[in-house]
Amino acid sequence: MQTTPVNRVRTRFAPSPTGYLHVGGLRTALYNYLYAKKMNGDFIVRIEDTDQARKVEGAEKSLLETLAVTGIVPDESFMHGGNFGPYIQSERLETYMQFCRQLLEEKNAYYCFSTAEELEENRKLQMKQGMQPKYNRKWLPEEMGGTMPESEIRKKLEAGLPYVVRMRVPDYISIMFEDMVRGPVEFDSATVDDQVLMKSDGFPTYHFASVIDDHLMEISHVIRGEEWLSSMPKHLLLYEFFGWEPPKAAHLPLLLNPDRSKLSKRQGDVAVEDFIRKGYSHEAIINFVALLGWNEGEGSEREVYSLDELKEKFTIERVGKAGAVFNVEKLGWLEKQYIKARPLEAIVKKIKSLLRDELEKKSTDMDTGRISSDEYLGQVVELMRERVSFEHEFITFSSYFFFDPQEYEEKAVQKRWASDTNSVLGEFIGVLEDTSDFSADNLETVLKDFVAPREKKPAFLIHPLRILTSGVGFGPSLYHMLEVLGKEAVIRRLRKGIERVDGVTS
Ligand code: GLU
Repeated sequence: MQTTPVNRVRTRFAPSPTGYLHVGGLRTALYNYLYAKKMNGDFIVRIEDTDQARKVEGAEKSLLETLAVTGIVPDESFMHGGNFGPYIQSERLETYMQFCRQLLEEKNAYYCFSTAEELEENRKLQMKQGMQPKYNRKWLPEEMGGTMPESEIRKKLEAGLPYVVRMRVPDYISIMFEDMVRGPVEFDSATVDDQVLMKSDGFPTYHFASVIDDHLMEISHVIRGEEWLSSMPKHLLLYEFFGWEPPKAAHLPLLLNPDRSKLSKRQGDVAVEDFIRKGYSHEAIINFVALLGWNEGEGSEREVYSLDELKEKFTIERVGKAGAVFNVEKLGWLEKQYIKARPLEAIVKKIKSLLRDELEKKSTDMDTGRISSDEYLGQVVELMRERVSFEHEFITFSSYFFFDPQEYEEKAVQKRWASDTNSVLGEFIGVLEDTSDFSADNLETVLKDFVAPREKKPAFLIHPLRILTSGVGFGPSLYHMLEVLGKEAVIRRLRKGIERVDGVTS
């Protein structure tokens, strides 16, 4: 076996490959990763695929890829290698069998031939009697305190009947441990079922495989969701049977919907992959998930943290016990903070690649020289930064910075056109043609000087100008928008637009 320095921190994320990464899973992965990094330890990803019925092809790889997108890279996994592999449980079956034989020999486990129907009947009966359903120990051997003669068990084994192996939970003992989040926790063994360790298909159950692997992989800290707290007595008993020291444990608070019900299980609402697809950045997702149960300290108002800052600041002592509300609005707010703070060049680079995709879709023969220049894109970003929630919205919400409008929001036209709008606009286009200074300030002066003697308000032209140059009735300050669009595009669009809206207004 490997020798790891005593006290070396080794944490693990142990997902079942069910096809997508749940935000709760990402939080578990993140906290394990942060703790390991903070303590200069190792972070391991182990695939727990012992439930063959739930297995989804290719899910292991996509889990690691999604983690990588968020910046979490394991030190050891089936893709990254390591000295404690294999890191996929279905490749470790021989190991589990070997430890199962040991438990059977030492009389800490026994064969059980009860059929599914029998178990179900027993469960119903116990429920009817108001009891907590538990295995009735029909197959617990006489020599282990049960009623089944050894000869009966031999007979079934020789006949090759299917069986499971169950752990023999000691009667009436108290099982205690110190949870790093919850403090001391105590269980009464009378409430603990004789858990199945090996299933009839030869695969171990989660409980058995996970304890053996945590030990063999020298995991020092098990950090996972609160839903696993009730498994602790079974796990601790197994450690005791084997004479192994259990890792330290920290059970993270439940994730709740804003109405404080248990977080939705609908994949579309909780799959990390879907949040990425919707355009949330990995920075915002990690920041959001980090705050689901952790905060820096009493009195800290701070909410924006990079992954590197989290690595420095994270401590398990600051993980709370109370359920953490999963509020997507907060994620949206964080995304906005990141867009505001992101360096201009980074956004420009992203928009360029989005724009390239967009142009491919449109297969236009337009001259894309100007709209793909860094300087132009930089101006668009500065103008729109405050108004977008996602990077892709620089293009979807304000496509007019890149493409001439093909149509005009009809309602806006109806609302903003008077019978003399087009003739006044026509005159104003002439004035714009003679204007060489297309700065926002100057355009404002030019427009005001133009409308005043005609006894019109600036709004008389502001709205039609916006609609004809952008196609829509809302957007950033008109003068700034015209400045960024530039004289040539503005005049071209106005000329074309005035002809086109004629049909709508007359
Ligand atoms: N395979 C378990 C899961 O799917 C892991 C639980 C644990 O961390 O022990 O969440």
